[in-house]
Formats: sequence, C-alpha cells, structure tokens
Amino acid sequence: MINLRPHHGMCIGQFMGKGYSEEFVANMYKVIEELDKNPDEGIRLVCSVDVICSSCPHKEEENCRSGQKVAEYDSTALKLCNLSAGDIVTWREFKKLVKVHILEQGKLNQVCHNCSWLSLCQECQGFRYIQD
Ligand code: SF4
Repeated sequence: MINLRPHHGMCIGQFMGKGYSEEFVANMYKVIEELDKNPDEGIRLVCSVDVICSSCPHKEEENCRSGQKVAEYDSTALKLCNLSAGDIVTWREFKKLVKVHILEQGKLNQVCHNCSWLSLCQECQGFRYIQD
C-alpha cells in the first residue's frame, strides 16, 4: 500500500513537471501514474516521509529537513478534509476530498501558506483533478 503525506494531495493536483531535482520529478510522474492506474486501491495517509519524499533531496534519513513546516501542511490538509493521520482511503476518494474541501474552496494557501511553490500552484488551480 502506498503511504502518502496529506499535503502531497495538493502537490499532485498542481504538478506540472517542476520539482527539486530530476530524480524528484521522475518519481512524481511515476507515483501519479501508479495512483491514476489504480484509483480504487487504498492509500495510507501518513504525516511522515512517503512515496514522494523517497526521491527528494530534502529527505534526511527518515525525516524531511523542512520539519514543522510540512507537518503543519499535513495537519491542515487532514483537518479540512475531515480525515486523520493513519486513515486509509482510495486515491479516488482522497483527490475528491482535496478538490471539494480545499481547492474549490480557495483554501490552497491555507494549507501551503509559506511554501515556495505556492504562486506556481495557484496558477494551476488543481488542473489534474478538474476532470474528475
Ligand atoms: S522530503 Fe520534505 S520537501 Fe521533500 S517531498 Fe517530502 S515533505 Fe516535501
């Protein structure tokens, strides 16, 4: 089962091929493809390093160097979607919750308020979820 940080539901929704490194971008495409291929399989929501962090240059051993900042993104995303850490949901359910409770409510900046990618993401408006 894939482990996914809740705030990565935002990162995936706006992903346009940019990221921290070539390896990171290649892994993002791979993870998105896998999720979209199996939308009804369960994913576990975790507030720790996940399948996306695994190829990130900011991952240090089993932690993210951004520490508390990304932990806050995760807890805000969970709260807005009425979910809890450790919950298992399908990818289809999770992206719908992100779309309905965060992106369509204009709450992206509530989750990712001090992220350096935010302005880029605001231009995309969750384009990967629009057709769902
Ligand atoms: S390690 Fe940190 S910066 Fe890298 S993808 Fe994970 S949460 Fe984001």
